[in-house]
Amino acid sequence: MSTGPGPDAGEFGLIDWIRRQVEDDPRVPLGIGDDCAVLRQTTSGELLVTTDMLLDGRHFQLSECGAEAVGAKAVGANLSDIAAMAGKPVAAFVSVALPRGHATEIAERLLSGMRPLLDAYSVALAGGDTNAWDGPLVVSVTLLGEPVAPGPVLRRGAEPGDVILVTGPLGGSLLGRHLAPVPRIREAITLHQAVPIKAMIDISDGLASDLSHILQESGGLGAILDAGAIPVHDDALRLSRRDGATPLDHALSDGEDFELCLAVSPEAAAQLLAAPPAEVRLHRVGTVQREPGLWLDDGTSRRPLRPRGFDHLAGA
Ligand code: ADP
Ligand code: MG
Repeated sequence: MSTGPGPDAGEFGLIDWIRRQVEDDPRVPLGIGDDCAVLRQTTSGELLVTTDMLLDGRHFQLSECGAEAVGAKAVGANLSDIAAMAGKPVAAFVSVALPRGHATEIAERLLSGMRPLLDAYSVALAGGDTNAWDGPLVVSVTLLGEPVAPGPVLRRGAEPGDVILVTGPLGGSLLGRHLAPVPRIREAITLHQAVPIKAMIDISDGLASDLSHILQESGGLGAILDAGAIPVHDDALRLSRRDGATPLDHALSDGEDFELCLAVSPEAAAQLLAAPPAEVRLHRVGTVQREPGLWLDDGTSRRPLRPRGFDHLAGA
């Protein structure tokens, strides 16, 4: 990467610098520099669009994590949403409210944090909006993607008897992983091409909460989770030693793992688990049932699970 924009670049100097960091991309005949970007449609005609806004003091503490991590998180969280639909990312739009005084330095760091993910997942930075103010850093990323045949995987579509799978260990992301999402883009596409995925979501609010969204959207179904089968992340064990909540509780309720939770038929699950596609981790964690409600089965008894995902409107 070339040298930075310099502290006195100003808005237009900064945008010009960002523009020079972006390579030509056939999917974006006209990128940064005009009133709108022009994108070339390459697939069926449907587009996936997702957006996420991150606020200093709410989703991250800039003074603790630095702007690179914020950039990575902003792009990673959006990529995770594209993964959850089994889509392929295309173009990103980045809007920022930069704290005055350090504006260009923060912008440069944001971009350098975004860069590895933009490159790794072939995302074209196609535009954005730049503001500075006396308030804290705000970053909003909008990501466009293409569905992959046979089409986007929705939250709705699960049926009683379906097997619930997750793509990796859960819990304790607060110890740092939440700032460095590893979006399961390739895993999702691989799975989508291997078997029919009935329903899918990325785990941003915690397994219990996000699985509940699938169940709700699939017509008010329920599920039994197998306590012994939930993959518990090492971070959940470490956090448990600190705060006294059990590692399993962390795995079930912590957010921002950015793994995928999916429902597939028992036949598809058997096929996947017998011969997992290359580089895809899969854990069978439970079963969908007709009776509504979420249950945790520890082998001897069942207890109801109350999903407590994070509600931004519910206050601190
Ligand atoms: P307008 O006033 O017409 O909205 P702007 O001056 O805001 O135009 O933006 C000029 C160009 O720079 C546009 O192509 C816009 O998408 C792009 N742009 C502005 N800010 C950013 C940013 N932070 N990252 C990427 N592109 C940006
Ligand atoms: Mg603008």
